Amino acid sequence: MLKPGLIPRQEPSIRVGIVLPNDEQKKITAFLSNMCDYEMAVDTLTFSTCEVASIPFTVEEKGMLFQIDGKQYERVHKVVFRPTRESAHITLDPVISGREFHWRKHISVRLPGIVEIGIYENFLLVINELPLEQYLMCVATSEMGAACPPALIEAQTVVARSWMLANVEQKHTALGIDVCNDDCCQRYQGLNNLTDVSIKGAKSTRGKVILYEGRICDARYSKSCGGKMETFENLWEDTPLPYMQNLPDMPEGNGVPDLSVEKNAQKWIMSTPKEAFCSSHTVPEDKLKQYIGACDEEGEYFRWTVEISNETLSANLREKLGLDVKAILDLQTRKRGGSARLLELGIVYLDFEDKKKETVVYKDYNARLVLHPKFLFSSAVIIERIGSGKIPRRFVYHGAGWGHGAGMCQIGALGMSLKGYTTEEILAHYYPGSEYKQIYK
Ligand SMILES: [Zn+2]
Ligand SMILES: [Zn+2]
Repeated sequence: MLKPGLIPRQEPSIRVGIVLPNDEQKKITAFLSNMCDYEMAVDTLTFSTCEVASIPFTVEEKGMLFQIDGKQYERVHKVVFRPTRESAHITLDPVISGREFHWRKHISVRLPGIVEIGIYENFLLVINELPLEQYLMCVATSEMGAACPPALIEAQTVVARSWMLANVEQKHTALGIDVCNDDCCQRYQGLNNLTDVSIKGAKSTRGKVILYEGRICDARYSKSCGGKMETFENLWEDTPLPYMQNLPDMPEGNGVPDLSVEKNAQKWIMSTPKEAFCSSHTVPEDKLKQYIGACDEEGEYFRWTVEISNETLSANLREKLGLDVKAILDLQTRKRGGSARLLELGIVYLDFEDKKKETVVYKDYNARLVLHPKFLFSSAVIIERIGSGKIPRRFVYHGAGWGHGAGMCQIGALGMSLKGYTTEEILAHYYPGSEYKQIYK
């Protein structure tokens, strides 16, 4: 596993979680690319797999169960497949994509490298171990469609590599993995989306990262900032990171008013600033589909509208906050960050005894979680009340952007690359003051 803060001098291997215990999955099938491609270790027993093509695994009370050649293996705790040739791969089915989000679905993934199928608290834990550069070839295109211009693929690869090596978040260390395969960390679907362009993108940037004052940047990124980038401290910890600033996602010289001022935010979200690199003028949204990865729902990213009924929203508040909400009286956008994302959301509601109560939700992530059962695209929203009485019937969210909006804006970076900006220019735009450098060959 990677060590935080350490700058590697040679290419490291990383461990990616493919099926996690919280998926609560008990069955998976492994299809081997070629029968003699793997050496298989079952707990402490090792043998060659020439006789096997596909193996269905089932988790039972005392361990895993599977059959090879009519022979049944029971109470197994871990199976490790080690490739004996480079082109070997294992297809696993099913695997969840979009784990915590509204686009959740089951897919099958084709994995290079070592595959470990094990159990953790009576559910499957599947891990893929592979060299970092090979992982990055797969990540760049899993995140963005293969039709993207090379500068975008390169910038995305450098950002993904930097984020991996800065390794600040460490969300899953208890499971013995560096990252998971989903948007919680970085979306990775094995070889499914590998293309010549993504291979080229990783090879031409091999070992290259962005650094700030000698440390690898914790290079966060999201799909669309909505026209202005958010700062690190408004979204996560209070300590600012100087390379994530509240800047317009536009060519230099274009100013944007202070969007933490409510009336500026109103005007901003309800308009479509043409100059923005991520705007639908720079990258038409019908064209976007050929660049955006296959797993997302179709949608508008720069400016969008979502409606929700009072009943659905009340139920969501009961579930997410454990509040005794009968109906919502008002949603108040009380404090915003520089990209218009919410820092403070006030919720006024009636409880089941018809008493008026109030609660406050802090930060973008929590606001998105409570505003919609399927996690709202962005918290840069204007909230419109529909209905004439004291209790609104519905709420309409007019929104800007998709995701947290800090660091690289992927659609903006696409806009820049389509306009002819280079990889270095894209990185300098989204991570101001950073240095672009190769740390291993
Ligand atoms: Zn994760
Ligand atoms: Zn943007």
